[in-house]
Amino acid sequence: MGRETAKRSIEEISWQDAKMNELPVAKFECVSCKYSDYRMSTREVGELAPGECPRCHGDMKVVAREVPQELSGQLALVAKHFDIKDFVAAKNRVELAVAAPNAKRSFRSLLGAAKKKGYLPVMREQEGELKLLMVKSPRVKKENVLINLLLFLATIGTTFFVGFYFLFGNTLYAALFSGSLLLMLGSHELGHKIAAWRNGVEATLPYFIPFPYLLGTFGAIIKIKSPIPTKEALVEMGASGPLFGFLVALPLTFVGLKLSNPALEGTSPFIIMPVIFVVLQLLAFGHISAAFTSLNPLAFAGWVVLVITMFNLLPAGQLDGGHVTRGLLNRENHYKLTRMLGLALILFGWFVPFLLIWGFFIFFIFRSYHTGALDDVSTLSKRQKWLAAVTFVVFLLCIPIPTG
Ligand SMILES: [Zn+2]
Ligand SMILES: [Zn+2]
Repeated sequence: MGRETAKRSIEEISWQDAKMNELPVAKFECVSCKYSDYRMSTREVGELAPGECPRCHGDMKVVAREVPQELSGQLALVAKHFDIKDFVAAKNRVELAVAAPNAKRSFRSLLGAAKKKGYLPVMREQEGELKLLMVKSPRVKKENVLINLLLFLATIGTTFFVGFYFLFGNTLYAALFSGSLLLMLGSHELGHKIAAWRNGVEATLPYFIPFPYLLGTFGAIIKIKSPIPTKEALVEMGASGPLFGFLVALPLTFVGLKLSNPALEGTSPFIIMPVIFVVLQLLAFGHISAAFTSLNPLAFAGWVVLVITMFNLLPAGQLDGGHVTRGLLNRENHYKLTRMLGLALILFGWFVPFLLIWGFFIFFIFRSYHTGALDDVSTLSKRQKWLAAVTFVVFLLCIPIPTG
């Protein structure tokens, strides 16, 4: 520890000294297109770097050897946490080739320090080299909380309306349906919000989506407004919503089933049955029932949330399950998985038409790479690997099984 601190302060001193004049930085300008940048170079003023213009492949010429204040500040910041091997600084961004004995730890301390100065570091691996990109932190726009509130109130209205007119035809049951559904969806979003707080990610309050038909809502979303720092944060952000929603849905669904009366025959209100819903029925009735003489709204709302949880946990694109898998897989593999899953669901849709919508959704919406965390290099720690495993188990429990 002591040695490390000592080494760091020596580095700091050498960079302070370097700033005084010896820093091998040169300002280059393209002879043809006038593009200019700063590079780590020992070339003298007037020397040429043939064909090195990244814009037109023309010749670059050293025009000065001074370092702008802001750039020297950024370099000093990075140098406190990494060894700088090389860099190019153009407008608004510095690209560096770096090295560190523990890149994960170095990145975390750099991230904290850079944020305070208004910069955002991004770490990637390219051809076996560790690359850092320093950009200005994007400004986060303030959201109008009134919109969240109005949508929430509207969703209370539409879920009650649908519960009353289309599902149960009774005020108490409509209120129970609306209240329990919003409680479970709200817990899901609260889970995301807590993970965002924990990881210093800016996220909005939930936007509930009112819909005056079917279930009265399409659920809720929160918008993530600042980049996710680490793979750990990515897994937590994705897993926490479905896990919170699932944990609240379990007891509510069970109580709802206990208050329902299964029928021996009749048509089923459930187009598909998640594994856990079957288990809860076995616990409540001792058998599985497709039909009900009376169905308590808590059981129905719980079933809705379990089905939504299964969809959210599909390991694809920007879905909650997609974030978790992106913490485990690199960009290319995550993309392949998303495409294959979309295609598989479309094929399965031949047998289970309901899956077709999900298949099309995944196949046509998620057509680009998942950017991943700012540190897309370090491996995931054990704790979050466990969290991902638990989330996968919940996903399996929510998968529908044939019960006929
Ligand atoms: Zn040029
Ligand atoms: Zn979610």
